[in-house]
Amino acid sequence: MSAHPLLERIESGLADIDRAHLRRTHRVVSTPCQPHLRADGRDVLAFASNDYLGLAAHPKIVEALIDGARRYGAGSGASHLISGHSQAHAELEAALADFMSPHLVDGRALYFCTGYMANLATISALANKDAEIFSEELNHASLIDGARLSRARTHVYPHGDVAALAALLEASEAETKLIVTDGVFSMDGDIAPLPQLLALAEKHNAWLVVDDAHGFGVVGENGRGVFEPFDLRSPNLVIIGTLGKAAGVAGAYVAAHKSVIEWLINRARPYIFTTAAAPAQAQALLASLALIRGDEGRERRAALQARIFQLRSSLKLKHWRHIASPTGVQPIILGENAAALHAQAGLAEAGLWVPAIRPPTVAPGTSRLRVTLSAAHTQDDVARLTSAINQLDHDWTAHAHG
Ligand SMILES: *Cc1c(COP(=O)(O)O)cnc(C)c1O
Repeated sequence: MSAHPLLERIESGLADIDRAHLRRTHRVVSTPCQPHLRADGRDVLAFASNDYLGLAAHPKIVEALIDGARRYGAGSGASHLISGHSQAHAELEAALADFMSPHLVDGRALYFCTGYMANLATISALANKDAEIFSEELNHASLIDGARLSRARTHVYPHGDVAALAALLEASEAETKLIVTDGVFSMDGDIAPLPQLLALAEKHNAWLVVDDAHGFGVVGENGRGVFEPFDLRSPNLVIIGTLGKAAGVAGAYVAAHKSVIEWLINRARPYIFTTAAAPAQAQALLASLALIRGDEGRERRAALQARIFQLRSSLKLKHWRHIASPTGVQPIILGENAAALHAQAGLAEAGLWVPAIRPPTVAPGTSRLRVTLSAAHTQDDVARLTSAINQLDHDWTAHAHG
């Protein structure tokens, strides 16, 4: 312990984190993001990234990034509204608006540096302290932080409980109402009941803000995300998609009616007061979007679906519970923090990297292994994983690890 009083308090807080088995640490990766990678100097087979289509190291996207850097340099130099908005940003926004147009009315898209910022920006710009936010229980931290930043009154409704949400909306007298939900739930992998949510939004004159971080690129014949299979379209819809996961680069977009986008440009502080992402990133994303929309995207989505089916049919668990989701997120619930860490370490011994996810990312008592699958995984990769997990689960005695 340090003798410095401020540092002493921090160090005692860290000791508390250790006692709860909640310490978080980095691993240093020295290869591109791909299933077989080097982390902390060891070769591992990873089921940890959100690179669902295997695009993060795609040669065409890497080339576009290099080409973008040659054309526009390394940095944007300023925020979008000063002088940082490049031709590449403008082209990307037009391409995203076109891609998402089946779900929008007079739609437009706006590019953000990260999904976290897009969520803060959207919620804090649409809601003020007189608004009410109806927030799904399993929402991502960035949506929760956006609601806090807005200072609106927030009601949390239980996971997937449309009737509870309807009752809350019924009782609300707020002029501005926002229903806020993940599209694909990031730690469970299931999908929000969008047709019912949109019907409620339209009935109660509320916005429906959907964060499709894990659906964009992955769900739907064309990869437009969670709305595509439902064929929904509405001026009440505000769709956020992140571009650092299936799209393989970084950033996020908000797609909505053009007046909503104009409002964000003028009112959303996390948009206005930050330096624009490198134009080269937008150039890389144009290449990524072309792949996602095209035949290669369709092939990669089919490959991902095949791996999901393989995992679901080959896990044979006795002690743990697999949430068999339709997406790349495949959680295995163990319960206690120490148990999840122990299982993570057991898989690491077998050369596998599957992250243990603990509170506050998930609710206490639901610590889990979060397996993420990618189109880049082979059948052999998934077979290696499922046999290791089956073996660990089979040999498990709960009391020894809790
Ligand atoms: C990852 C994630 C975000 C944040 O996106 P970044 O681009 O990583 O900042 C937001 N919402 C959900 C549901 C996510 O999973």
